[in-house]
Amino acid sequence: MKVYLDNNATTKIDPLVKVKMQPFFEELYGNPNSLHQYGMDVRPALNVALGEMYDALNAPDADDILITSCATESNNTVLKGIFFKHILKNPEKNHIVTTAVEHPSMQDTLLYLSDYGVDVTYVDVDKNGGISAEAIKAAVTDKTILISMMWANNETGMIFPIEEVSSFAKEKDILFHTDAVQAIGKLKVDLSAVNIDYLTFSAHKFHGPKGIGGLYVKKGKQLPNLLHGGEQMGGKRAGTLNVAYIVGMGLAMKQAANHVEKINIDVRRLRDKLEDALIKISDTIVVGPRALRTPNTILISLRGIEGESMLWDLNKSGIAASTGSACASESLEANPVMNAIGEDPELAHTAMRLSLSRFTTEKEIDYTIDAFTAAAERLRSISSTYAYTNEVG
Ligand code: PLP
Repeated sequence: MKVYLDNNATTKIDPLVKVKMQPFFEELYGNPNSLHQYGMDVRPALNVALGEMYDALNAPDADDILITSCATESNNTVLKGIFFKHILKNPEKNHIVTTAVEHPSMQDTLLYLSDYGVDVTYVDVDKNGGISAEAIKAAVTDKTILISMMWANNETGMIFPIEEVSSFAKEKDILFHTDAVQAIGKLKVDLSAVNIDYLTFSAHKFHGPKGIGGLYVKKGKQLPNLLHGGEQMGGKRAGTLNVAYIVGMGLAMKQAANHVEKINIDVRRLRDKLEDALIKISDTIVVGPRALRTPNTILISLRGIEGESMLWDLNKSGIAASTGSACASESLEANPVMNAIGEDPELAHTAMRLSLSRFTTEKEIDYTIDAFTAAAERLRSISSTYAYTNEVG
């Protein structure tokens, strides 16, 4: 049996999305900016897709949704855009507040910008991997131009206090950005109910295609272009539009929004069933209270078993999980969020993430429970034999 439990890294394409995209690889290949019939033929589908995104996010028409190549580009656009538009012109306001557990596309960009005089405060997570709104507020100074905080964490699934912090940012006249990559499709994201200026998303995290993402920009909060050289997207991001992928992202986001309730019942039930079974394995911890996590995610540590050993053992049984962000998974390092939680260094090396989707089945979860439990027993017995051999030898 094959079981895919790495849905926070990427998801499979919703079959309906694939069918909807297909004609744009065949007869509907025109450039939507062309004036001839081929161009005209694809434009309506683009408008439908954008409409689906505005509806799914409940974003007012006056606001912008920029199409980007991925969430990494969206995060770069926000940070570099704010640098060019605000910090470069007024270095007095050069301070950004963020969390210690943002995705590398945020952390690395902030590190890069710090060489150009940007001052960054990274607010630590608590022992559950959560962020307190108070800690964010306390980090703000009169030099703060931006608060950026992910909506939900990719490793733990912990949901961050977006509503409270975005309202605080608005009161203080500070820009607010959220990386909502792990929230869309798992949580209700309603942009008319929160004070968000910029929101990042990525289609491949909600059963759309890879290589396409977006950035919501509130009216009046426009950022400078990072890509120059064309009038696409109203001149806000140059480059020929990837119609097939935009169409796919529109439907995928509509489907994601329509399935949020189902995910919060059905996927949550399967996640809880899996977690209830795995937590019975001795010396095991799961990070963060369930009610504060996205309904699909478990970050688990089994004392004495390296995350990578467990990963390879499960892989042999056809189960795909992860030890950390896919962007860092080749480095065999400690899990960065477990590291940030920092209670016990061993936990960072034994951490594994299991993330479900609305396509995960009960059979797959039952199979995973058995395979995971057997793998844990096997690896613990190998490590105790090893410890014994070392002692006597
Ligand atoms: N932000 C978060 C929270 C993520 O989990 C990811 C992907 O793992 C990204 C950003 C980057 O997404 P993309 O692959 O679209 O660049």
